[in-house]
Amino acid sequence: MQATNAATAKEVVQQKWGKRPLIIAGPCSAETEEQVMQTAVELQKTGKVDIMRAGIWKPRTRPGSFEGIGTKGLPWLQQAKKLTGIPVAIEVATAKQVEDALHFDVDVLWIGARTTVNPFSVQEVADALRGVDVPVLIKNPINPDLELWTGAVERVAKAGIKQIGLIHRGFSSYGNTEYRNAPMWHLAIEMKRRNPELMIINDPSHICGRRDILQDVAQKAIDLDFDGLIVESHVDPDNAWSDAKQQVTPARLGEMLDAIIWRR
Ligand code: PEP
Ligand code: MN
Repeated sequence: MQATNAATAKEVVQQKWGKRPLIIAGPCSAETEEQVMQTAVELQKTGKVDIMRAGIWKPRTRPGSFEGIGTKGLPWLQQAKKLTGIPVAIEVATAKQVEDALHFDVDVLWIGARTTVNPFSVQEVADALRGVDVPVLIKNPINPDLELWTGAVERVAKAGIKQIGLIHRGFSSYGNTEYRNAPMWHLAIEMKRRNPELMIINDPSHICGRRDILQDVAQKAIDLDFDGLIVESHVDPDNAWSDAKQQVTPARLGEMLDAIIWRR
């Protein structure tokens, strides 16, 4: 499959959007051109990835760690898409990031958990999306507040975005817990119940924070009738510049997806 222009990638996204399961995978962060291209090629080899994710601007909790490669990484994603035909998705948190992403033909945007909590930021992103035809995924806020999550959906919908999806990535809690972010499945189920028209996918990577329980969480999401998964995958997970412990190689991702028992 070879997509050589943005229009083709757009069509690919249109077809994939309603597909079940929708599989989004890719590195937590775009790091180097080589890493992006290698990951894209390896993901393509699995034959199971519908959309490639890669963080360009990283909202790190503490300063001093890698905060994303920035706009410089956007042509790498364009290049990866050209090579593999797999549409690309990134996180946006400001109007400028939306502008830059669209300028470089990013196919799907997502609003991160640390942005969903802030109505000013969500509104800024929504305003920048006015008049634009791009699918937007909205992660749950880091705190277990369905109203904030719903508010973000409403702001994006009011901006005229038609293709909106939800990402369940778990909720922060204090201290050492089994999960990096507690899944609180009942909240995702309630959000799904309230928004039956919206697709909801699960992000086992940010729920688990580690590889060993990834498969179980992904399976649980599928058992609960989620529409798909967004999984962090990196060619060299141990040396990833962010979220190293939770990333898996594309080959491992392929095995994991093969082992999942799909509902339909
Ligand atoms: C990410 O997807 O890499 C990310 C920063 O996720 P979240 O917003 O869920 O913390
Ligand atoms: Mn991450």
